[in-house]
Amino acid sequence: MLRAKKIYIEGIVQGVGFRPFVFKLASELGLKGYIYNDTNGVYIEVEGEEGLIDEFIKSIPKKAPPLALVERIFTEETQVKGYSEFFIEKSKGGEEKFVLISPDVSTCDDCLRELFDPSDRRYRYPFINCTNCGPRFTIIVDVPYDRAKTTMAVFKMCRECESEYHDPSNRRFHAQPNACPVCGPSLKLFDNKLNEINCEDPIKEVSKILKNGFIVAIKGLGGYHLACDALNNNAVAELRKRKMRIEKPFAIMIPDVDWLDKICNYDEVELELLTSIQRPIVLIKKRRDCPIAYEVAPRNSYLGVMLPYTPLHHLLMREVNLPLVMTSGNLTEEPIAYKDDDAFERLGKIADFFLVHNREIHMRCDDSVSAVIAGKPVVFRRSRGYVPYPVKLQFEAKKQVLAVGGHLKNTFCFLKGRYAFLSHHIGDLENWATLKSLIEGVEHFKKLFDLKPEVLAYDMHPEYLSTKFALELDIPVKVPVQHHHAHVVSCMAENGLSGPVIGVAFDGTGYGTDGKIWGGEFLITELARFERIAHFDYVPLPGGEIAIKEPWRMALSYLVYSFGDHFQLIEIPFVKFLKENWSKVKILLKMIDKGINSPMTSAVGRLFDAVSAICSVRLKVNYEAQAAMEFQMVADEDESGVYEFEIIDSMRPWRISFKQGIRGVVQDIESGLDVSKIAGKFHNTIARIICEVAQKIKSETGINDVVLSGGVFQNALLVKKTISELEKSGFKVYTHSKVPPNDGGISLGQAVVALFNAV
Ligand code: ZN
Ligand code: ZN
Ligand code: FE
Repeated sequence: MLRAKKIYIEGIVQGVGFRPFVFKLASELGLKGYIYNDTNGVYIEVEGEEGLIDEFIKSIPKKAPPLALVERIFTEETQVKGYSEFFIEKSKGGEEKFVLISPDVSTCDDCLRELFDPSDRRYRYPFINCTNCGPRFTIIVDVPYDRAKTTMAVFKMCRECESEYHDPSNRRFHAQPNACPVCGPSLKLFDNKLNEINCEDPIKEVSKILKNGFIVAIKGLGGYHLACDALNNNAVAELRKRKMRIEKPFAIMIPDVDWLDKICNYDEVELELLTSIQRPIVLIKKRRDCPIAYEVAPRNSYLGVMLPYTPLHHLLMREVNLPLVMTSGNLTEEPIAYKDDDAFERLGKIADFFLVHNREIHMRCDDSVSAVIAGKPVVFRRSRGYVPYPVKLQFEAKKQVLAVGGHLKNTFCFLKGRYAFLSHHIGDLENWATLKSLIEGVEHFKKLFDLKPEVLAYDMHPEYLSTKFALELDIPVKVPVQHHHAHVVSCMAENGLSGPVIGVAFDGTGYGTDGKIWGGEFLITELARFERIAHFDYVPLPGGEIAIKEPWRMALSYLVYSFGDHFQLIEIPFVKFLKENWSKVKILLKMIDKGINSPMTSAVGRLFDAVSAICSVRLKVNYEAQAAMEFQMVADEDESGVYEFEIIDSMRPWRISFKQGIRGVVQDIESGLDVSKIAGKFHNTIARIICEVAQKIKSETGINDVVLSGGVFQNALLVKKTISELEKSGFKVYTHSKVPPNDGGISLGQAVVALFNAV
């Protein structure tokens, strides 16, 4: 019997090839009717055999195109009208339109096949794309998402492209960036004096140039990369010198998965992450016989690896057939270059050649970075491929919120309805260029998602650029949010928790409600409020900011904390180093003693720094968290020993004393225990502390959920040990996955905290 049904679908179903997919599905099943886009999703009316309609409805979420996200399907019986075909109707919807915008997506398999098919009209065309792949977020200038409002507007489609674009059965139906060699963008090659290099095939030419050890700036999807041969140590060292980047690892792009076998030891989850459509950089353990140049990631046991994700990369990687360094096109500390003039100016002294194209990048977007921790993918930098996909909330935001994020690894976040729009990576807000990037990003998101925030969230730190920026904005309700509260709530939000939970926030720095630097915090946390129930002992940070770059200062501070003046009697290499630099040490001791320029900190990140330096692993760092990372890397994962510590609970908040721990470390060094064992024991101790404090909190409050957040929980070894300790004691443990554990994630937490304080 012939039946008819109305179907309403909500989710990410626009601009992702959803209508052609439904058209095709209906046609295959011989169903008649129509589909159109409206304000919040798609509307379908369908007629046919009942069984076929059921199959149709069941297939929609299962077979939906890769970029679509079907959230809800409503169906309703209706009258049979006797349509003769299935057709796509014009979009309906008024001004209120709120459409989710797709991130940029790596080249799909269909496009890849065409790219390398000599008989295809897009054979070797570096800008091939379709509704299932290609640029989106980075080329959209305004909404509604339509070619005229992208940076593709200047390219008029040729007849063939145009007919694909209008054909509902075609993979390029309404693919806004649709293009071909006849009508679309093209490549050009320049030297660094802006002379164009005339050549038949810029890709082949660049490949030769790279093989000869030169550095090439390559315009990509969300900005410029600086590329060189990753097997050529001289080339990589030269790039480091010119970019003024010491030791901080470079990411590499490998031609294919076969190369991964040669360079890394990986598991299935890592492989899955690496080959996912987002194509992030994945941090994977190096093989012992890894042929990648030492200078790519000096003193580091991990490599940041990614696969090609644009047709240009695919062509280049196939041609050059070598792993390439692919690092952001910038000078250290600056935002990535994405405008051509700016790139020529800023990168002209770094790159020997420029491979550019004439498709403008409207919004910068850095590569995303992720890793697998305790068997689960965790994003460290959520940007290209993920943004602006929202994070789904477990509640409906009654008011729109803007959160401006923190100081380092800044991102911002908007809340609207059930969505949190977490921005792309902005960077460290230490200069005007980065702040400008934040301001532009906020304005762009407002336009894209029709946002009018009524509530503003910002960090409590009075000196942060983000705070100053926030206080100047014209938004009626402003809510300062404590840094670690924001950390824990960001993790709660992504896990759908409303608390109270035992929040463990460990990082390097964050302004506390007492004006001190927090970072070793146990917070009983709800979305709106928190109680600081325990923290690591305060220890002076001699010299403030400088002590973060020079962990040996923190080590001295911890030695004084544990031993007082007697630390001079210790016979270990680190104390010998102190004695050799006694004039400096003397000043520091005075600073520590008198509290001059020595803010007090409870940060566990600093404790890692200190122990790393006491063990002579790393005395000064060249990039954030280097000392802690290198300390993790030397650790023997099978070590089971633990150092002593004390939970002092005579007053609230309880204090965790690590005096015994430091003494234990020193004793072990004195007795010649290998540093790998000491590092292993240290990790065990931090995990044990978390577990014991959590148990104490549980016995008082009955709370069984533990949430781990903060940059320290990027330490895979620590996370693994902590989860195992906590689970053994019956706790339910929640960690980050979709949102960074580091400060890149706090804007989400800020936004949620502010929302629940403003309603
Ligand atoms: Zn495609
Ligand atoms: Zn064309
Ligand atoms: Fe933090």
